[in-house]
Amino acid sequence: MSKRDYYETLGVSQDATAKEVKKAYKKLAMKYHPDRTQGDKAKEETFKEVKEAYEILNDEQKRAAYDQYGHAAFEQGGGGGRGGFGGGGGGFGQDFGDIFGDIFGGGGGGRGRQRQQRGSDLRYNVDLSLEDAVKGKSLEIKVPTYVSCDPCDGSGAKPGTSAKTCSTCHGHGQVQMRQGLFAVQQTCPTCSGNGKVISDKCTSCRGQGRVEKNKTLSVKIPAGVDTGDRIRLSGEGEAGEHGAPAGDLYVQVNVRDHGIFVRDENHLYCEVPISFVTAALGGEIEVPTLGGKVKLKVPKETQTGKMFRLRGKGVKSVRSSSTGDLMCKVVIETPVNLSGDQADLLRQLEEKMASSSKKHSPKETGFFDGVKKFFDDLKS
Ligand SMILES: [Zn+2]
Ligand SMILES: [Zn+2]
Repeated sequence: MSKRDYYETLGVSQDATAKEVKKAYKKLAMKYHPDRTQGDKAKEETFKEVKEAYEILNDEQKRAAYDQYGHAAFEQGGGGGRGGFGGGGGGFGQDFGDIFGDIFGGGGGGRGRQRQQRGSDLRYNVDLSLEDAVKGKSLEIKVPTYVSCDPCDGSGAKPGTSAKTCSTCHGHGQVQMRQGLFAVQQTCPTCSGNGKVISDKCTSCRGQGRVEKNKTLSVKIPAGVDTGDRIRLSGEGEAGEHGAPAGDLYVQVNVRDHGIFVRDENHLYCEVPISFVTAALGGEIEVPTLGGKVKLKVPKETQTGKMFRLRGKGVKSVRSSSTGDLMCKVVIETPVNLSGDQADLLRQLEEKMASSSKKHSPKETGFFDGVKKFFDDLKS
């Protein structure tokens, strides 16, 4: 799906100031907001585009990322579970709420739109083990939040009664006050802009339409997530007041350090100790992977620090179908706790190697040649 350039969508230049961006957005939002376009689908789509462009360009960090990487900076991958899956970043929605209130808070519209405040977004931090992050996991999380009040169905009115249209403002939420020659619009003092008055308040929520409660949610963490990723559960944030739409819940992922593996993107790294005999003669060793142990052939004369790549034994990406590799670094161990006999054997081995015409320590030979040259150079 190819997207329009955000600057083009808002009709501003690349070097537009924050103020110009806001102004352009307001103008377009007035024109295309669904409340004003009577279900015109094409206009609704345009509004979504405009809103998206504004959300990015109005945020300094996101705008910088967009300038550098284009739409790729915000690509959504194939997540699982409910809700979309996105990379890290700040909270969406909030600043939109502000400007929304700014423009559409007033009455004026034919339907007498109410001043409704969408519920707040919530963030929930989840700590995962590397195994869970790699395989994905279903979690039950408890979130303290506001939920829509059950007895009154979010209306705030006592069950069996309903909120009445405010007689002061006739549901507009705004009243006109005359001040000399001018008519000034003000928030209705009777209903505080809600457009409705509740005479019999619901006792459970005291007329708020929402109550504080621990909400239990099941979240499906998609396989392959990493620290900084977040999962959005649309509409699972705080309920709004008086039946206004709920905010979103963002589950922020943190992956704990692992005792064996270090993760870098989709590759895993680990160190495997091997004996100097195996390293010298070659052999087969067992190395750990997230799927269990696998055998690894070590060729003879392997030096310490050599990295072996096990293809496809890393992490399956959450954003694509590719899978990373496992890099095993072998570390040769010096034997400890040698008995007298064992030490004697090693000494014999060393003598034999010293008297042989072949070179047995490739690095040492090169190293001492280098040291000799270093001191020779100093002398001359
Ligand atoms: Zn009123
Ligand atoms: Zn209630």
